Amino acid sequence: MFLDLSTATFCQLSIFATLKKLMKNVLIIIIFAANIFCPRLCLGDEPNISYANEMPKISGDAKHALASVLATANVSGCIITSTTRTSTQQAKAMYDFKIAYGVAAARKLYGSEGNKVVDVYVAQTKANRDETAILAAMEAEIKEVLPAAIKNNHLMHVDRPDYDVFDVSLNSIPSDKRGAFIAAANASGLFHRILGPNEGEQSCYHFEFKKSQ
Ligand SMILES: [Zn+2]
Repeated sequence: MFLDLSTATFCQLSIFATLKKLMKNVLIIIIFAANIFCPRLCLGDEPNISYANEMPKISGDAKHALASVLATANVSGCIITSTTRTSTQQAKAMYDFKIAYGVAAARKLYGSEGNKVVDVYVAQTKANRDETAILAAMEAEIKEVLPAAIKNNHLMHVDRPDYDVFDVSLNSIPSDKRGAFIAAANASGLFHRILGPNEGEQSCYHFEFKKSQ
């Protein structure tokens, strides 16, 4: 009984290959376990914050604050549906909100200055004006009430260079994590104001982040 050199080498190679395979499996198991028990801490996987369409991006500080809330609530990411708006975009957002949820819901959301814009919508609709005319009248009213709205912290999406104001899609947060998400956001103390779906908003969470001076 003897082993020649080629057999020995073959045995060594085969042991080496088995060990390599084993190590690979152990590594896969470790990564898998790390993913289950501490997905962000172990693997540095930042929450994925994306935008529903083309819009001005929020600041790095605001994004960081939102990411920390998502991480605390163990939510892997979210979609931002709106940030800063021009008066034209604000008129369209308010118009669409009223079409989707009605005038009464709108009156709960936008504050006293916004209610004047809602009044314009109601009057224009009663007068059977078309969408273009209604939007133009609403935009003119927004420009009219904006100085008062800025003073009273209303209509926050329009012309607020001191704030990052953004909406997070309700549907982008898994339903079983929405409670943890809003609790983490409120507990963080990082935001000037947060409005959830039970506070006037319907399909989003509204966030206001005060930029550092
Ligand atoms: Zn909002």
